[in-house]
Amino acid sequence: MCGIVGYIGHRDAYPVILKGLQRLEYRGYDSAGIALYDGSEIKLSKTKGKVADLEAKVSEQINPVGSLGIGHTRWATHGVPNDVNSHPHFSNSGDLVIIHNGIIENYATLKEELIKRGYKFSSDTDTEVLVNLIEDIQKNSDLKLGKAVQVALNQVVGAYAIAVFDIKKPNEIVVARLGSPLAIGVGENEFFIASDASPFIEYTNNAVYLEDEEMAVIRLHKPLNVRNIKDDRIVSPYVQELKINLEQIEKGGYDHFMLKEIFEQPNAIKDTYRGRLLIDEGIIKMAGVEDNMGKFLNANRIIIIACGTSWHAGLVAEYIIEDLVRIPVEVEYASEFRYRNPVINENDVVIAISQSGETADTLAAIKLAKEKGAFVFGVCNVVGSSISRETHAGAYTHAGPEIGVASTKAFTTQITVLTLIALRLAKAKGTMSNTDFRRHLVELETIPEKVAATLKSDALAKEIAAIYKDAKNFLYLGRGFNFPVALEGALKLKEISYIHAEGYPAAEMKHGPIALIDENMPIAVIATKYGHYEKVVSNIQEIKSRKGKIIAVVTKGDTQVRDIADHVIEVPETLELLSPLLTTIPLQLLSYHIAVMLDRNVDQPRNLAKSVTVE
Ligand code: GLU
Repeated sequence: MCGIVGYIGHRDAYPVILKGLQRLEYRGYDSAGIALYDGSEIKLSKTKGKVADLEAKVSEQINPVGSLGIGHTRWATHGVPNDVNSHPHFSNSGDLVIIHNGIIENYATLKEELIKRGYKFSSDTDTEVLVNLIEDIQKNSDLKLGKAVQVALNQVVGAYAIAVFDIKKPNEIVVARLGSPLAIGVGENEFFIASDASPFIEYTNNAVYLEDEEMAVIRLHKPLNVRNIKDDRIVSPYVQELKINLEQIEKGGYDHFMLKEIFEQPNAIKDTYRGRLLIDEGIIKMAGVEDNMGKFLNANRIIIIACGTSWHAGLVAEYIIEDLVRIPVEVEYASEFRYRNPVINENDVVIAISQSGETADTLAAIKLAKEKGAFVFGVCNVVGSSISRETHAGAYTHAGPEIGVASTKAFTTQITVLTLIALRLAKAKGTMSNTDFRRHLVELETIPEKVAATLKSDALAKEIAAIYKDAKNFLYLGRGFNFPVALEGALKLKEISYIHAEGYPAAEMKHGPIALIDENMPIAVIATKYGHYEKVVSNIQEIKSRKGKIIAVVTKGDTQVRDIADHVIEVPETLELLSPLLTTIPLQLLSYHIAVMLDRNVDQPRNLAKSVTVE
């Protein structure tokens, strides 16, 4: 995920683009760049770092004049954040320049072909492949830029929002989208391009939002030319009048980043398995795992180290990996592991999980594990982060930036990556039949739509939140794969509403916490089909006998729990080991609404920080 901005018109493009990039920084901020056309040449300035770093660099590098330009604030997916990998990217001839938000999944194959044809690449990005593909198509035909872009995009698998222009025809910008957002601001003799409307809201209220598979050729003094990339159908652009303010736009119309990120989960999970879960071929492709398959398969045990929400994702992974791969797994708090003289050696594989990739305790634990000879694999969201550099290999979650301090999409995408790893290992180890493997792939692919269906429980979660918002304590119970979800549900509530909450394995309740239950105690219970369902139903009966209030998360169509619980929230049916990806959603929504009703600072709760870089 990243922010893209473009301008063509009568103003100085630089201040428009720079301000636009600042507003889009919530979408990514590991590098930034700008390309301006001043009537004779393209001027390029780009740098690792934030938009402020770009601003400092621009004046040293170029004279930022010109009334046509494009700019980018990056969230790296392919290639570490550095100056060279920053956008915009030039084609080999230097004529074409592009910015891109998204992932070109088949970039490796396309790159190989282009290298055979003599193309050279200076960056590690998938984006530089695309701009050269467009150039190659133009070179071998007499197609105009718009057509060449269209032909190229028909060869591309993946997701994109792009803006590209050609120095030989400096009066037009070609844009296109599939899976990543792209808005065109339509002014008086000027056009703006952006990932959302925030960069142009003060210049025009008229916007055209491209739909997936649409592209537009934007030319001054000409109407917008929009067409479908796949079937070439001309589309008449729908110009929408914007009636929202800047803050609303940055949060995508949501009141808080946390809510936006909760609702982003269907796409975030899709981005996580994009290019890895290949249904047609019936395989999982993960270079970091494949290149080190021997290490994984010969491991005596896998030790997962993490903190906070990532530790909960690790617990889910423990259940999944042991179930599918039959390698023993231990899950450790990084802060404990690093100081307790752990027994670890070169026969162990360590998986370190961290959203930011900067968690100080996890980093220290990684260094210790490496010193003792273990192979260390990282699971992070932030490309190029310290953990991704410190580990021997790894897999990114590709969830896009998470701004809300309480982790939501980071959790579900970590579970997704860890599930992919478990499936890939199970396949290699032969612990799963081909039919079973395929059944898991097919089901995993449906998870984004099932998460989307689960998000429809938002209104119900809000109603339940209104009833229990003044409770002093909450209990969260789950079993098996959903025990860690109970822990995560409790953590979410504590973090943002400051209500005391505890997560417990449902059956452990009898060994202590049951003493807490009275008519004032709300208890969220995960009681989905398959997960020792009958046993959980008995646990619910035990709570009811003590007058506790039950909020149950159940499988769609459930009647047994509905009869005894005070409230039920349904999730679609899925395989038991994938159910945490669904059951966690209503719990996120419940804590979110309670926190809002209590007037808490949801995105920046007290005493917390997004990435814990101190021990
Ligand atoms: N895949 C591109 C890159 O890594 C674009 C990533 C983005 O959306 O920021 O440079």
